[in-house]
Amino acid sequence: MNDDRYKGYREPCLGLLQRFDVGVWYEVRVTTREGSFEGLLLPRSVTSDAHHIVLKLTTGYNVGLRCDTIVEMQQIGYREAHYKIPEQEFPVSRDKPRVKLLGTGGTIASRLDYRTGAVIPAFSPGELYGSVPELAEICNLETDKLFGVFSENMGPEQYLVLAETIGQTIEEGYAGIVVGHGTDTMHHTAAALSFMVQDPPVPIVMVGSQRSSDRPSSDAAQNLINATWAAATGDIAEVMVCMFGPTSDQYNLLHRGTRVRKMHSSYRSTFRTLGDIPLAMVDDGVITHLKDDYRPRRDDRRVKVQPAFEEKVSLLYYYPNMQADMVDALVERGYKGIVLAGTGLGHVNRTLYPALRRAHEAGVVVFMTLQTLWGFVQMHVYETGREILELGVVPLANMLPEVAYIKLGWALGMHPDDPARVVELMTTSIAGEMTEREPHDGYLVFQGGVPEIQDFLQQVWK
Ligand code: ASP
Repeated sequence: MNDDRYKGYREPCLGLLQRFDVGVWYEVRVTTREGSFEGLLLPRSVTSDAHHIVLKLTTGYNVGLRCDTIVEMQQIGYREAHYKIPEQEFPVSRDKPRVKLLGTGGTIASRLDYRTGAVIPAFSPGELYGSVPELAEICNLETDKLFGVFSENMGPEQYLVLAETIGQTIEEGYAGIVVGHGTDTMHHTAAALSFMVQDPPVPIVMVGSQRSSDRPSSDAAQNLINATWAAATGDIAEVMVCMFGPTSDQYNLLHRGTRVRKMHSSYRSTFRTLGDIPLAMVDDGVITHLKDDYRPRRDDRRVKVQPAFEEKVSLLYYYPNMQADMVDALVERGYKGIVLAGTGLGHVNRTLYPALRRAHEAGVVVFMTLQTLWGFVQMHVYETGREILELGVVPLANMLPEVAYIKLGWALGMHPDDPARVVELMTTSIAGEMTEREPHDGYLVFQGGVPEIQDFLQQVWK
């Protein structure tokens, strides 16, 4: 038997719940061999394992407890949780800028679904206003849910729809655009939009959250508020990512779409600008510029939208002892372009040379980027570099590997039969993806947590 009272629970946990006469939505005190816990017994997902019960603690965090460690369970209350976000109509005020929020999914658009126990994408304008009413102080927000996917499911098909929608939205006269997106591949989409939507007259600000809004430490509201400020009133008319700057909830950073990368699996301050410093800080309406070489906002509605993507491109992350068949397989399978993420200044082993030559002869364009993420490809320093250059591999300065992958897909999509034009496009910086130099200490200092780093250093120096 597994009725509503035991929703999702199977043996062995089911027997345990029956034995102690408790069910889902009961507040329980659970004694285990490791200690005791009090919280709300949550339903289980049909896809989750059978060996744990899940409690929502009073702190808001969920904890899984292994059934075979449980000694006793006692009911202390009952509270059915409804996590429906209250919907309210977004108030319109005539003197505020119009901003469009395009939803693609991800944690920012998620809440915990207690039917399945999973975090599911959910997005509606009313829900958004209901949960972050501050947005109405910034702008007149309209929303459009394009997709409802976690960002691992974003890809060329979605990039094209997004780019076209952004183009139309700009033409419709919005003051700025916010794109809600999962954080995992946000930097890929940011790069795609940077190439597909060139020279926009208004800010295009991507935003996500590392922690869903049902958690006390959620970054969703702060990120959304600051991204909306940047889109509504900011002067930087580029594709950017707006996420937590420091680890604490002090301010957000605006990162250029071609220089940003997710760098931590769980920190809220996970996005970092690489090879440069962030464009600006945003703190509840106050935007402090950190760089002055940016494209400023314009009043016109001109924008160059070029949605194209060749899917037969690959990013090959070199590892010692990589074999030639890794490259040959791609060529045989009809791949038209390969980005290598090489070691050091842009190296791979000799074993790959014959395959790289075969790729070049077959008309496959091959480019070199760096695993170090900071610094420039320099293939004239070591013999290895020079040899690889002779095989037709084209160095891409300090373009990040993922950005190069996306740019190559776009360039080949634009010019499917013109490899020379593709090489020319790849080696010309369009949206800040290659810079002349990098700040000499940028990778140590300008990473958004300046006060934190100073505090840390002072402690270490003492
Ligand atoms: N897996 C999620 C995603 O990228 C994580 C997030 O949104 O932060 O869609």
